Amino acid sequence: MIEPAARALPWLDATLVGIVPASARVKSYRFRVAFDRPMRAGQHVDVRLTAPDGYQAQRSYSIASAPGHDGTIELMIEGLAGGEVSGFFATTAEVGDTIEMRGPIGGAFVWGPEDGGPLLLVGGGSGVVPLLSMLRHRAAVAPEVPALLLYSARDADEAIAAEELATRARDEPGLDLMLNLTRAGGRRIDAALIGEALDRLGAPRHAYLCGANPFVGTVSDLLLEAGLDPATIRTERFGG
Ligand SMILES: Cc1cc2nc3c(=O)[nH]c(=O)nc-3n(C[C@H](O)[C@H](O)[C@H](O)COP(=O)(O)OP(=O)(O)OC[C@H]3O[C@@H](n4cnc5c(N)ncnc54)[C@H](O)[C@@H]3O)c2cc1C
Repeated sequence: MIEPAARALPWLDATLVGIVPASARVKSYRFRVAFDRPMRAGQHVDVRLTAPDGYQAQRSYSIASAPGHDGTIELMIEGLAGGEVSGFFATTAEVGDTIEMRGPIGGAFVWGPEDGGPLLLVGGGSGVVPLLSMLRHRAAVAPEVPALLLYSARDADEAIAAEELATRARDEPGLDLMLNLTRAGGRRIDAALIGEALDRLGAPRHAYLCGANPFVGTVSDLLLEAGLDPATIRTERFGG
């Protein structure tokens, strides 16, 4: 028998069933899609758009929802000025549209209760999306795992799912939130912020970093300088 992971991933029709704002520049898109394999928190999908003349554009988007949901998944997409695919979502996509999607994809940047903690999650901008999936999953299946999210956004308007994150940090024992707003009194993530996060959490068993290339590179270096074992660090880079 061929293992599911070894089978080619088919392109599936995904129907857009809901659009709501997630921050000033990011919207949440909920799709109904029937994957042929289970998803893990942290994974992403590929999305493919086809123009009437046959031209195709394909991009990856992390899944924000936790595993085990009702036949739908949530993506959170930042509308980039001039962005081919994110621009389509920001300006043109409507509830009822069908697009092509394949997934869930990704075997390294994933977390499940069997991985345990403490969990250090560090996200920049839309890089918080797969970390949100991990936090939602943690709350559902392993709330005893200590976790800290260090989330860097430009300002309060641009912080994705800010209300949900604040509520979780208030209500979920063992979950700590450090929101760093770089244009509103905060600063770029530096050794002092990483030191504070490590003091508050304790030594992490796993560190998951996600965001634009320079953000992930900087945070990786800071964690290594702080003495973390490289084997504990997992990264996901969005480009940019
Ligand atoms: C594994 C993975 C998961 C991702 N998950 C998400 C997600 O959850 N939400 C999300 O919004 N994006 C995510 N991305 C980024 C996404 O795949 C696209 O790169 C992004 O939407 C831009 O595509 P575009 O077609 O709109 O822009 P393009 O037409 O490709 O580029 C337009 C302009 O934007 C710049 N640009 C391209 N990508 C980025 C970027 N990531 N950040 C800043 N500037 C960029 C380009 O240099 C160019 O100037 C993910 C990427 C990867 C690899």
